Amino acid sequence: MSLRIVHYNDPILRKKGAPVTGFDSALAALAAAMVETMHEANGIGLAAQQIGRAQQLCVVDLRDAEAEFSWNLDGAKPPLELFMPMVIANPTIAVVRGTEELVAEEGCLSFPNIRGDVARANAITVKFKDERGVPHTLACDGLLARCIQHEADHLNGVLFIERMEKKVRASLDEAIKALAKETRAAAKTNFIS
Ligand SMILES: [Zn+2]
Repeated sequence: MSLRIVHYNDPILRKKGAPVTGFDSALAALAAAMVETMHEANGIGLAAQQIGRAQQLCVVDLRDAEAEFSWNLDGAKPPLELFMPMVIANPTIAVVRGTEELVAEEGCLSFPNIRGDVARANAITVKFKDERGVPHTLACDGLLARCIQHEADHLNGVLFIERMEKKVRASLDEAIKALAKETRAAAKTNFIS
């Protein structure tokens, strides 16, 4: 079952997610629905806030991404096919000391057709739990590190437009305002019908 993706500036996108505590079949079903929704939208990541739930839960799948990145999961380097799509609950991110900040263009499924440059740490370590509650440590860089930082921001109610330089953010201002207006209008329609 695919879910409706929430657009900017729905208030749920500003909510910090509650930690996931129950690693049961309901959580596994929710995570599976999020993966399906992400795939249908051709996204590489999706956070719970984006489907209307303020929870510390996101999914990531970079199997089809054309980018070079490296990873180490729990001390090994399994093929991507073995651990993606990833379900990430309750992530805590540490930036690798001395890593550089890289600027790259990002998009977001909650901001259709809006893209802009964002600076992020190139290398991170993230501790998280999977949908069964099993703890993991992932060290990664490049697009995978960028994607996880973007999703973890969502879980704290932070959006990529807030990570942009002023100049970049300003150049998108009109499109962002138009999107917010569209979202408000759609919310009204949903309420009436
Ligand atoms: Zn996003």
